[in-house]
Amino acid sequence: MNYSERVIADLKERYSSEPEFIQAAEEVLSTLQPALDAHPEFEENGLLERLVEPERVIMFRVPWVDDSGKVQVNRAFRVEYNSAIGPYKGGLRFNPTVNLGMLKFLGFEQIFKNSLTTLPMGGGKGGSDFDPKGKSNMEVMRFCQSFMTELQRHIGPDTDVPAGDLGVGGREIGYMFGQYKRLRNEWSGVLTGKGLTYGGSLARTEATGYGLVYFVQNLLEDHGDSFEGKTVVVHGSGNVAIYAVQKAEQLGAKVVACSDTKGWVYDSEGLSVEALEAIYAEKRSGHDKGVSLAKYVDYRPDAEYHAEDGRGVWQIPCDIALPCARENTLLLEDAKALVANGCKVVGEGANMPTTTEATEYLIDNGVAFCPGKAANAGGVAVSGLEMSQNAGHISWTFEEVDDRLKGIMASIYNAAASAAKEYGHEGNLVFGANIAGFLKVADAMMAQGV
Ligand code: GLU
Repeated sequence: MNYSERVIADLKERYSSEPEFIQAAEEVLSTLQPALDAHPEFEENGLLERLVEPERVIMFRVPWVDDSGKVQVNRAFRVEYNSAIGPYKGGLRFNPTVNLGMLKFLGFEQIFKNSLTTLPMGGGKGGSDFDPKGKSNMEVMRFCQSFMTELQRHIGPDTDVPAGDLGVGGREIGYMFGQYKRLRNEWSGVLTGKGLTYGGSLARTEATGYGLVYFVQNLLEDHGDSFEGKTVVVHGSGNVAIYAVQKAEQLGAKVVACSDTKGWVYDSEGLSVEALEAIYAEKRSGHDKGVSLAKYVDYRPDAEYHAEDGRGVWQIPCDIALPCARENTLLLEDAKALVANGCKVVGEGANMPTTTEATEYLIDNGVAFCPGKAANAGGVAVSGLEMSQNAGHISWTFEEVDDRLKGIMASIYNAAASAAKEYGHEGNLVFGANIAGFLKVADAMMAQGV
């Protein structure tokens, strides 16, 4: 067994109860061997063993009072994974599926994603098994305040800078920021994704979806092609999906399908971003607990709604597929349908939406596969730009931020494409992104000693 295989085997033995983490760690480590062969000093310094273990994990209780006066208790975590190249940086996920293994997977991915952005940000992730869906505004506020009452002692603008992720948008960030400021008597850029009136960055909302499309645009241009006239399908209909649809349509593509947890829509004329934004806002307001994409046909009567698994979107013939919902939502059978129907590009807007077998099938069948840690890095990249603006007490225009985002996505594409070539896997962006992201962190860890 070589070095990476030994570390993977050891992880499988010790962390069998953390399947998502094992999946993510294996996906990354199994591609690093060419870089490890070129740097025998990494093994001598136990670099991989250090890399897979978070620097620190905080686990805490979040007690809060619901609208009926009853005390509720949730469990929360912050995984401070790696600070070699900058303060820990990464989102907070509020979802009933959250557990330590899932946050370790997301935090581990974040290390390499942040490294690829070219900005000085380490990797972290956090969250809670609290579900904001269906809760009132006041309940969400009380939860966020209680959550921050504990978390505030562990974070800071130069220590750890959380942001949003699934279930955490502008509203939750606002409540958490308010509590941090109240408790610390300190106004600082300790969270990103803030509202525009209190230190948020223009284009942060759009950044992940726009960044995804810019990444795919770089890939297409590298092959003498463009979005013009392409048919695109999207999985998801949240913040990432909506702005991916908008940017792809602005660049001349037709996006014909998207989904939510209850069903999916097909609109042969191209999806209406206004309709998707309105439905998303209604869902987030929590007033009507039953609201779903089924409402789309109220806006566009000629569209079709299918009340079945959202993975139905993968059956639709397309040139480009963008999974923008969550992990493990593009399975082997979906990959087979995409290839059979002529899909040429898959770009991951979500974190690890494509299973390992599906990824292999796509790559083996000539699909250009854009892994999430490169393709969806636009969100955290603009978070990094928000940190810079806060630190400098300035704010940039939408165009300035958008231009920087475009430049960053081009750098990420070029770094991944050239590392893939240099290490013997030309065209394989999974290899390229992992190796390019890893080498920067590895270099910093070596320089800083054990
Ligand atoms: N949750 C996003 C991600 O997965 C953004 C994190 C951030 O802005 O810190 O990259």
